[in-house]
This record gives sequence, structure tokens and C-alpha cells, in this order.
Amino acid sequence: MTDSLEPFGPHTGTVPTAPDHFAPPGFGDRCRCLSGEVFGACCGPFLARETTAPTAVQLMRSRYSAYAAGEAAYLLETWHPSTRPAALELDPSTRWYRLDVLRREAGGPLDGVGLVEFRAYARRNGDRLEQHEVSRFVRELGQWRYLDAVD
Ligand SMILES: [Zn+2]
Repeated sequence: MTDSLEPFGPHTGTVPTAPDHFAPPGFGDRCRCLSGEVFGACCGPFLARETTAPTAVQLMRSRYSAYAAGEAAYLLETWHPSTRPAALELDPSTRWYRLDVLRREAGGPLDGVGLVEFRAYARRNGDRLEQHEVSRFVRELGQWRYLDAVD
């Protein structure tokens, strides 16, 4: 039902009550992280566990896509064990519709740590939510994981 998805970017209007957005898009659909790529060439292979994100920014984008698609298991798997919550429940009424990556430091395929600053936008029951965060990522055994948020 990806045709029923919200147009990207700021918008006005009412949010449907049916949480039919709470599923991953098809591989040929535009990726939710707004990279400009289709899902199958962006976050899709990471969420499908076909491969792992080579950079901190790609992991961050895929985690945003996981929040948008309600993929809690992926979020837990990509969370560093030292900070990972025991469980994660995602609210299907929270509708993530926009991600802006503002800044990155390190986080490349050969780095051990990375920082990504982003702003993400959602709506929930008619309210606008905005999350601004500088996230820390660490790479261990070749896999990037989300560590925590810094101020
Ligand atoms: Zn993506």
C-alpha cells in the first residue's frame, strides 16, 4: 500500500488513522530516508539483512527507515549491546516522514567511530514531532552499531 504514503516533505492535512505505512516499502519504491535512491538500492538490503551498512551514515539512514517501517528487531540488532534496551515498542501512530542528515564526522568503512547529526520529522495524532540528535556509532567486527546520543 505504498501508494497511500504521505508525500515527502512538510505538509499540512490530516493523518489517516490506519497505520498502513507501518511496513517496509517495496524495493522499487523511493526509500523512506529520502536519499533519492529506491529502497532496494538504499536501506532495503540492510533491513532485509542481505548486507550490513558500510558507513555510520548508511546505518543511521537504515535505522530511520526501520523506525518508519516499524522494524523494531532491526533497531535492536543495530544497537550496541552496551546501550541496547531490552525491548523496543514502536508506536504505529507515529508517522516518520522526513530525515535531514546535517553533519557527519568519521564513520567511514575503515573508521572505528562515527558521529551523525540529523533532524527527523514525524506526525502523531495531528501533532508534529521533531527529533534533533547527534548520534554516536561504533564499528566492531566490521559492523556499525548505534551507541548513543550526545549533546
Ligand atoms: Zn534509505
